[in-house]
Amino acid sequence: MNTNKITLLGTGTSVGIPMVGCKCIVCKSEQPKNKRLRTSAYIEYEGKNFLIDIGPDFRQQMLNNQIENIDAILITHPHFDHIGGYDDIRGFNFSQEKPIKLYTNQFSYEALKKQFYYVFEASDYPSLPSTEYIEIKENTTFQFETTDIKALGIWHGKMPCLGFRFGNLAYLTDVNDIPENVFEDLKNLDVLILDALRIDKHPSHFSLKESIEIAKKINAKQTVFIHISHHMGLHEEVSKILPKNMTIGFDSQTINF
Ligand SMILES: [Zn+2]
Ligand SMILES: [Zn+2]
Ligand SMILES: [Zn+2]
Repeated sequence: MNTNKITLLGTGTSVGIPMVGCKCIVCKSEQPKNKRLRTSAYIEYEGKNFLIDIGPDFRQQMLNNQIENIDAILITHPHFDHIGGYDDIRGFNFSQEKPIKLYTNQFSYEALKKQFYYVFEASDYPSLPSTEYIEIKENTTFQFETTDIKALGIWHGKMPCLGFRFGNLAYLTDVNDIPENVFEDLKNLDVLILDALRIDKHPSHFSLKESIEIAKKINAKQTVFIHISHHMGLHEEVSKILPKNMTIGFDSQTINF
């Protein structure tokens, strides 16, 4: 049996922690667990390497975690903190000498094309990022070579977002509403990675209280919260108030599944 592993490349919300210009206790903390790059993950599953989202910290995340190969990129939704590093995949294009397969829905792909318009215009410029787009639809299973991955349709305010299930792990970032039918696909999980922005309610992310309720309903063996804002407070303080089997994630954390 393969050992499957997720690495949390970043666990911070869109502005990261520390946020530029902020002097709060979290942003000023020297504790490494209070420093958070933008949310993204690397999943080694059945011998293949998947990147979930390609945020503005992508390059640093690859270097920090010594990642030397990506077989496929999965995009959850097209906010800048999830696609802003797209241009930097050129490094892998040079080393792997081929386009990288990119799986997302049509909505995100159209937005990516607008954001990085110069990549998708006819051009003979030789060093543009290169991907091969494969459309996936929510609530369907898709294949990458011999692996099966399920795409889950969730809501991020008014924006559709994709969650993913790899075997007994599910990854749900940028979400504040999970349609009832999707819970069917979240049964028997060993690991649930779930958005929990901050203590206070927010229009497009689960608050910590909401995430805890959802995590109880899903009942994975282990739940790890991501996409954390400096408003959440210090990692070491928030960790004390969480139910059993639930933790706040931190950058470069790895979990086998
Ligand atoms: Zn985000
Ligand atoms: Zn702050
Ligand atoms: Zn978002």
